[in-house]
Amino acid sequence: MGDFDTAVVFAALKFSAAKHRTQKRKDGESPYINHPIEVAELLVRVAQVRDTETIAAALLHDTVEDTGTSPEELRENFGDQITGLVLECTDDKHLPKVERKRLQVVNASHKSPRAKLIKISDKICNINDIINTPPPDWSLQRRVEYLEWAEKVVAGLRGGCAELDALFDHKLREGRTALTVGTGGIC
Ligand code: NDP
Ligand code: ZN
Repeated sequence: MGDFDTAVVFAALKFSAAKHRTQKRKDGESPYINHPIEVAELLVRVAQVRDTETIAAALLHDTVEDTGTSPEELRENFGDQITGLVLECTDDKHLPKVERKRLQVVNASHKSPRAKLIKISDKICNINDIINTPPPDWSLQRRVEYLEWAEKVVAGLRGGCAELDALFDHKLREGRTALTVGTGGIC
């Protein structure tokens, strides 16, 4: 920790933008880099985070999981602390998807405080995407199931920032309302 190092944060943004440059989010439209930017922006604006490593790791949080980036490459560029935070936010893609989903729920409460902040911000942004820019092939049921799973993961992430916890609850309610209106109401 220490003073906010803007140069490191911009280096992380530049690195992440290059790694995600060919990717779109699952709505098929949004540039992928918009997502890590949103996660980092939420941490700065809502959680008032001014820790360089947390913000840099938020910008980099999907590079290992979703681009070919190795932990070694991250370590060479950003050091052990930022790399460690990114790895705490990275699923093991060798495992079957159902197991990865289960492990996120089981492991959430064991994450470091800084990784918990990044992960809850990630879930808030993903719920926002599920509401506003969902993958076009997802049924309403699948979108509702995503909310339910995210709630279980976030149960293990709470307590680091009251404003983020409250924003997650708000988004979850908004999502449930948006996805159940006009369907006869599931809630
Ligand atoms: P996926 O893991 O396949 O997709 C969600 C992830 O994709 C997000 O966590 C996010 O991760 C990333 N993402 C990229 N673009 C978007 C976007 N536009 N909107 C939202 N997320 C985006 O989904 P799940 O496997 O978690 O499926 C959700 C739920 O649906 C699960 O609970 C599962 O049980 C259920 N399911 C239902 C099926 C059905 O047919 N009914 C089939 C399969 C699953 P990141 O931040 O890392 O980019
Ligand atoms: Zn993410």
